[in-house]
Formats: sequence, C-alpha cells, structure tokens
Amino acid sequence: MADMDYYKILGVEKTASAEEIKRAYKKVAIKYHPDRNPDNKEAEEKFKQAAEAYDVLRDPDKRARYDQFGKEGVNGMGGAGGFGGAGMDLNDIFRQFGDIFGGMGGFGGGFGGGGRSSRPRRFQGGDLRLKVKLSLGEIATGVTKKFKVRKDVTCDACHGSGCAGGSSPETCSTCQGSGYVLRATRSMFGMMQSQEVCPTCHGEGTVIKNKCSKCGGEGVVSGEEIVEINIPAGVAEGMVVTVQGKGNAGRHNGVPGDIQVLIEEEEHPELIRDENDLIYNLLLTVPQAVLGDSVEIPTLDGKARINIKSGTQPGTRLRLRGKGLPAVSGYGYGKGDIIVNVSIYIPETLNKDEKRAFSSMKGSENLEPTDKAKETIFRSFQQYFE
Ligand SMILES: [Zn+2]
Ligand SMILES: [Zn+2]
Repeated sequence: MADMDYYKILGVEKTASAEEIKRAYKKVAIKYHPDRNPDNKEAEEKFKQAAEAYDVLRDPDKRARYDQFGKEGVNGMGGAGGFGGAGMDLNDIFRQFGDIFGGMGGFGGGFGGGGRSSRPRRFQGGDLRLKVKLSLGEIATGVTKKFKVRKDVTCDACHGSGCAGGSSPETCSTCQGSGYVLRATRSMFGMMQSQEVCPTCHGEGTVIKNKCSKCGGEGVVSGEEIVEINIPAGVAEGMVVTVQGKGNAGRHNGVPGDIQVLIEEEEHPELIRDENDLIYNLLLTVPQAVLGDSVEIPTLDGKARINIKSGTQPGTRLRLRGKGLPAVSGYGYGKGDIIVNVSIYIPETLNKDEKRAFSSMKGSENLEPTDKAKETIFRSFQQYFE
C-alpha cells in the first residue's frame, strides 16, 4: 500500500484544517459505506482506507509525524497500529467514529447500536424485583430466604422451542435467517439503505409455523417457582442483591432475567445501626454511676456483661469490639463494634429516706464538679456546636 496517501484518500489538500478533514472523511465514508454498497469488496476496502486515513489525520500529533515521516512515522505508535488496513474490522470503525455516523439519517438504525450482528437475536427474560425485610441478627450472619415467585417459566410441552409436536422453527423467508432487513430511506445524502431488525421474525431469523398449543409459540408460560436466595452478611437497607438467571425465562430458550432483591431492615428494639457499628444507650442509676457496677448489654447473639467503673460520667462511650455487624464482602473488612453510650437517670420522685440521703449530701465537697469535669463538659458542647 505504498501508494496510499492519506490526504489523497480523503481528497483534501495537505494544508486542510481539522474541520475540512472531518467533512471530507464524512463524504468518503458515506460514498463507500457498506450499507450503500452491499457486497462490494472494493467499496469496503476504500471505506476502511478512509477510516485509517482519518484516524491519523484527525490527531494533530499523528498527523505531524505522518507529514514528516510518512506512514512509517505513525506505524507502531500504537494508535495507527490497530488499523492494519486489510485486517481492519468494520465494527471497529463504527465504534471508533460513531460520532461521525451518529445523527446522519439512514445510518443510525443499522449500525448505531453496536454494529451488524450476524447472529440471530436471543430473547432476554425480564428481571423480577422482590423485597425482603431482615432483622439485624439475620444481617449479622447472612441468611437464606425462600420465595415463591410468579414468573415466566420455560414451557414444558415444547421445552421452550415454541414448536408443536417435535417440529422445528423454519428459516424466516423475509430475512433469509439473518434477522435483519435492508430498508431504503431518504436522507440528506440522498437515498440510503439502512439495516433494520426483521419485522417478521423480530431478529430471531426463524419463524414457527406449527405453534405449541400450550404456550402459543412463545416457549414460556406463566408459572411459579420456589427460589432460594442467599443474602450475604452485612447488607444494609436499600442495598440490592442480584441473583442472576433466576428471573423470567426468556422466550424460545433465550437468556433468563435476574431477580433483584431490595433489602429492608427491621428495627431492633434496643440497638441502633450506624454503618457496621451498633449503638446501645445505657441508662445507669445514680448509685451505679457513682459506685460502679457490672451490667448486661444486649448483643445480636445474646448478651454481654460489662463493668462500669465508679465515677462514670454521662456521655461516656464504651466499646465492645467486634460485636457489631460484619462488612458486606467487597465493601470493607472485619466487624463493627457495639458502642455503649452512657446516660444517667436522675430520679424524678423520692421517698422520705431517699430525700434525706440526698439532702445530707448537698454541699458535700466531693459532689461539687471538679475543674476537669467542667472543662470536659465545656469541650463537648464546643464540639457539638462546631
Ligand atoms: Zn410450548
Ligand atoms: Zn426474519
């Protein structure tokens, strides 16, 4: 291909601007577009050459090297390497320069959606959406849930083929089995051919003459299935767990859809979730806080006992390491904690003896807040209002 001059291929001067090059490429590409020149090898070759030329000339850096060194200057640079001319795939061209072909009347249809596929289309079954409400205990361990779902299932009479009595689908006579038809359309560039999904077989390439009576030729019927869904540990409200292939069966043994399970979280009567930590609000009596005590804390798998030191202040936070929720796989490591948030209950009514006891302590030196306690309270409020 020594004679291949990129400027000549596109029909532009060496001094052409980027806009001129783009316009020229568009023109050549339309002229030799495979849709307009079906089964024309020469046109296809010219179409590919134009794409190769445009790939180099649209890039200022490659263009400069090409101007200086010719094709040798751009080969092996990576960019032009993929374009070997002869070995170039049409689909690559459409993918690479989709913006050129986009919005150009007749072109969009056949190629815009990812190129011409020689394989007939397979039907995709729809997804199913379910909701499941889980307790924090179930979230802590992960859980398997069974659901009875109504969905499209493969027809057992025809095993999904849609054909009656052991017959088979026949090649579609409209598209000769390709699943696509060419359609002439008027566009700003004159009459053009575009490729469309065959209206007779909807892209399958086959039609069923002798339809299964149970499913009417669809290959699927409505049915029910019990599905088991494994919910991993650590999930949270609003997450969606996807189970591939358990949704609606696809027509004619197509690809089944998925089941998407939306996670809802049941409130725990005592523990509040904060990501993977659990918050427990512990309300101590005045003597417990003053004298210290051993108290029980609810956990997701029972109870834990913790020691309260004498002189524990309200607002103290204690941590039970690893008693929280596990990180959902792929979103972190390890387990959260239970955070015990200490509050102190001040009695609202007192009997005579209690009143006397408190009265006798009034003014006692040790009951006056220390400077350190005042400082701590001040700091915590300062933080709160920041
Ligand atoms: Zn059937
Ligand atoms: Zn067809």
